[in-house]
Formats: sequence, C-alpha cells, structure tokens
Amino acid sequence: MYFGIFTSIFTKINVTQILKDTAKHQGLRNQLAKILEEKGITDKSVLDAIKKIPRHLFLNSSFEDFAYQDKAFPIAAGQTISQPYTVAFQSQLLQVKKDDKILEIGTGSGYQTAVLCMLGAKVFSVERQNELFKITSALLPKLGIRPKHLSFGDGYKGLPNHAPFDSIIVTAGAPIIPKPLMAQLKIGGRLVIPLGENEQVMTMLIRKNETQFEKHEFGEFRFVPLLENKN
Ligand code: SAH
Repeated sequence: MYFGIFTSIFTKINVTQILKDTAKHQGLRNQLAKILEEKGITDKSVLDAIKKIPRHLFLNSSFEDFAYQDKAFPIAAGQTISQPYTVAFQSQLLQVKKDDKILEIGTGSGYQTAVLCMLGAKVFSVERQNELFKITSALLPKLGIRPKHLSFGDGYKGLPNHAPFDSIIVTAGAPIIPKPLMAQLKIGGRLVIPLGENEQVMTMLIRKNETQFEKHEFGEFRFVPLLENKN
C-alpha cells in the first residue's frame, strides 16, 4: 500500500520518503505481535493494532530494516520512539474502549498515538519539541490516522480546556506525577505514567473519587525524561 510522498526532516537534511507498506512489512508486524504475546501482552485488540500500524513509517528510513524489532530507536530532537512492548504494555493498561477520550503526553513519533487511534480512542496529544510536533502532525493524516487534537506545549499542564479525560498516558519518564494531570482525569479513569529519574516504575493511578486515587505498580522501564517546557 502506498500512502503517497512525505517530505521528512527527521535528519538535518530533507529526505523524501515514500510511504510504502508491503507484504514483507505485514509479515514482520505479525511476527512482532507474536513476540509481544510471548512477552505477556494478552489484549487482542492491542496486538491487532500492532499488526496494523506501519511502524517503519514512523522512523527514519535508515532504520526500516529494524523497525519491527522490539526496540526503541532514535527519532528527531534527540528523542526516541518507544519500544513496541512498552507501547503495548501501556496501551493494555489503559483498557481502551471505543470513543474513550485519551490524553497523551509526549507525542514523539506518533506511533503510540496511532495505536490508541486504532483502538478507537479520541486522542489528544501534547509534545514539547516543536520539530517533532510538526513532523508528526504532517505524518499521521498521510497514514489515515486522525487524532482529535495534536498540540505543541508543556505536558506537565495537561490540556485543561479539553479535560476531563477517560485516561491519560505519559510516554516520558516523570520525576513526579503532575497534579494537573490528576485533576484532569475522570472519576474511574486511569493515569498511566512511568515514574522515576534514570529508570522508571510503570505506575497506574485509578481515580476513585474527587480526592482518592488507587496506585498500582508494574515493574521497571526506561524512557527519555519528561522535561519542563522551555517556552
Ligand atoms: N510515544 C512516543 C514517545 C516519544 S519519547 C513515541 O513512541 O514515539 C517521549 C516524548 O515526550 C518526546 O518526544 C519528548 O519530547 C516528549 N516530552 C518530554 N517532556 C515533555 C513535556 N513536558 N510535555 C510534552 N512532551 C514532552
């Protein structure tokens, strides 16, 4: 399948990348989904989304041959596209239902955004690197993926104008749980956030009522840091 031509600024020079998805890519995606299942991902809808999203198109074309390995890779602005297992793990924790309103902090490459859209969520995503915001805003519609709202700004603040959210996902390592994110979560909603400086503990808060949150922890992961905005 051809998605057309996309002019990318993933590297310092402009490269024209043809958005091409082949049977070979599909085969590699099926294998990746199998590996994720073996690693403990059980949610079929998440595995199906992994089988559908062309991860190689979210990376610089020089990584194309590796795109379906279960690894993180560098993207623009010194950031990384999360490891597929991490994307699947966080997505599974959210227990996404169709039309759930989800806030994502750290759009990055847009791969996690795409998985959430494929799960039927209305995704609102915030990115603090303008370069990535621009690249990803251009890429997603070319792949037929339409988040509700992409914005450039500081994820620590969430998106108060669009709150409350059914779930919130943070895809960068956070030293603390930002209070505005807790405030923007619906009662019954889930906030999934990797917490810690060098290594992070995957943490999920479930909002019980106005003031109480139930905390669950799920082992260690490694993310680029959630940074305060420079604007
Ligand atoms: N889900 C993305 C993860 C990218 S890495 C993917 O798989 O591609 C984490 C992203 O969080 C980076 O793009 C980084 O720029 C962004 N980020 C870091 N601090 C942030 C903040 N305060 N607000 C919004 N985005 C932030």
